Amino acid sequence: MAVIRDANSEARHRLCQKLESQGNDSRVVEAFWKVARHHFIEPALAFRAYEDVTLPIGYQQTLSRPSVVAHQLTQLLKDRDRLRFVLEIGTGSGYQTALLTHLCTRVYSVERIEGLYKIASHRLAGMGQRNFRLRLGDGFEGWSGVGRYDGIVAAASPGHIPEAWLEQLSPQGVLVMPLDLGNSQRMIRVDNHADGAKTTDLATANFVPCLSGVQP
Ligand code: SAH
Repeated sequence: MAVIRDANSEARHRLCQKLESQGNDSRVVEAFWKVARHHFIEPALAFRAYEDVTLPIGYQQTLSRPSVVAHQLTQLLKDRDRLRFVLEIGTGSGYQTALLTHLCTRVYSVERIEGLYKIASHRLAGMGQRNFRLRLGDGFEGWSGVGRYDGIVAAASPGHIPEAWLEQLSPQGVLVMPLDLGNSQRMIRVDNHADGAKTTDLATANFVPCLSGVQP
């Protein structure tokens, strides 16, 4: 790993070691090393940026724990050399979008809360990466017109698998999402195959709900 010298690099290094020891994909751990999480939260909370904790990002939304994000991204990359187009549902702070820019050719990310969309747009524009597009919209509809996605990752939990996500997934694509079962959530992976989709139950989950419509 290249050495990045800033006030947080030691804490970031410890977090990456933890993610590595949890068995996450080395490409994912490398992305966590490259992206400064403290740039995606309120300055007052920056001292907690590299702890394995959920942090508030305003508008009653949260930035997921690093270990949960790393697990989702590891599942997305599982058995795959390279992901081309990836759709992210729930841009939020833009942190996971930034991680994804290092893991695929192009990221398309949809956020329904205008305030978060604007903050994330501003932050991500200040990064070196250019291979992403953001949209203010209802993620239940996915993002059509791009082509089919190799990967779809949701940071908000719907009560069913939205039809549009399956329609927009490529024939070998993979969808990783927290599914809301009413009184609990499960992280699931849906692998598309020529003979139909196969769903794998991965872990318990605890995400914000996936809500319809845009919030100005
Ligand atoms: N990946 C984000 C996590 C944000 S929390 C990050 O790294 O910060 C989940 C986000 O999903 C919230 O910002 C919430 O507003 C958004 N969301 C919920 N339902 C949505 C929908 N239908 N379409 C788009 N975004 C949605």
